Amino acid sequence: MDVKSKMDKIAKWIDGITKAKANIIKEFCGGMDNEEIAKYFLYPNMKEKHKDFCRLYAQSKICHSSIKAENLCCYGCNCPNYDVEYYKYSNDDKNLIMGRCRIGSKGGKYLKIPDRGETKGYRIWDCSGCVIPHSVEYIKDYITKN
Ligand code: SF4
Repeated sequence: MDVKSKMDKIAKWIDGITKAKANIIKEFCGGMDNEEIAKYFLYPNMKEKHKDFCRLYAQSKICHSSIKAENLCCYGCNCPNYDVEYYKYSNDDKNLIMGRCRIGSKGGKYLKIPDRGETKGYRIWDCSGCVIPHSVEYIKDYITKN
């Protein structure tokens, strides 16, 4: 898979989840203030009412294990700070580096994807260790500003 195909795949996923969030707000959050909307997106409520929003609900798993499920705001997926359009080739091994955090969170890291024959190994920005966009407070502020 070439770079453009990989980035298109991520961009498509982001587009789908962005639309899903907008639809949920439109259909289920009428009359709520921004804090109530952020709370509506807490994991237990989403798992119960919007089973299709995340494939992990069916497995009763959560994406960021350092947060309790009752405090995990699923609106933070995908994170508004993720730069999906960023890529460059590293100076040392010339391999591809994809994605980055616009706010430089220390919780994220580059994950090395091994060479599978289709392309050289590459590194992709992985947010699994970052909890910044998953608190009600953060999302309440984000919705207020956007
Ligand atoms: S590292 Fe954290 S703040 Fe940065 S893009 Fe990933 S989830 Fe968002």
